[in-house]
Amino acid sequence: MKNAIITGGTSGIGLGIATKFASQGYNLLLNGLEKNGEEITQEIAREYGVRAVFSPANLQQPEQIKRMVQQAERELGQVDVLVNNAGIQHVSPVEEFPEDRWDAIIAINMSATFHSAKAVWSGMKARGFGRIINIASAHALRASEYKVAYVAAKHGVAGITKVLALEGAPYGITCNAICPGYVRTPLVEAQIADQARVHQMSEAEVIEKVMLKKQPVKQFVEVQAIAGLALHLASEAASQLTGALLPIDGGWSAQ
Ligand code: NAD
Repeated sequence: MKNAIITGGTSGIGLGIATKFASQGYNLLLNGLEKNGEEITQEIAREYGVRAVFSPANLQQPEQIKRMVQQAERELGQVDVLVNNAGIQHVSPVEEFPEDRWDAIIAINMSATFHSAKAVWSGMKARGFGRIINIASAHALRASEYKVAYVAAKHGVAGITKVLALEGAPYGITCNAICPGYVRTPLVEAQIADQARVHQMSEAEVIEKVMLKKQPVKQFVEVQAIAGLALHLASEAASQLTGALLPIDGGWSAQ
């Protein structure tokens, strides 16, 4: 059976992808900053009877990313699938946007995608099979005010995705980006509060007038829908699907 690294795999969308992959027999390395990351990982291993290891690597540090990939190769054998999912958000008007949040968002949401892909690349190339799945965002395709770093980073991920698809094509390595609209995860729960402050609205108004305003299907995207697409992208059947930016956004990017 195949092995997958899922960054940010111990919360939200990443945890949903981890559970889906485990249910299909994938062995996993899950990464994240959650204090109970080890327990979450072992629970998945027990429930689905797969091998699963945890890495608390901080993706802001390229050296820790290298060690995370080495850990997967040592403890699982090889890396067949890399899901670059970890991400953070900060919502603020540009003139108040803190420099350290800019740096952190660019490092975690964008640069870590490059560093982790670089670290798995030679193994995938040698075996003639690899799947790199970047969890980007509708903000890889569209902009919103007060999210200058996030929109820049996610557009950067779109560019990285296309380049890796071209470079991977001769070697059986595909690279795609999933671009979700709003999904109700811990990241979005925190943002509802931030947006309420910036827009001077109640939290209910933020959900209706800011977030779901842009999603014609007036519902949050389900984690399971994203996990199902990621599973397909990881499969042998998706060998011709590469370099794509795939929206699951309730019609947002149709506008
Ligand atoms: P989440 O906050 O539930 O999970 C984020 C994960 O990233 C956590 O496991 C966290 O520990 C990890 N992480 C954060 N900083 C890290 C670091 N420095 N090193 C290692 N791990 C780190 O968020 P989520 O909503 O599940 O988001 C997952 C991805 O989906 C992100 O890239 C996000 O931008 C993207 N996304 C989310 C939404 C949404 O509406 N929730 C929409 C589009 C795209």
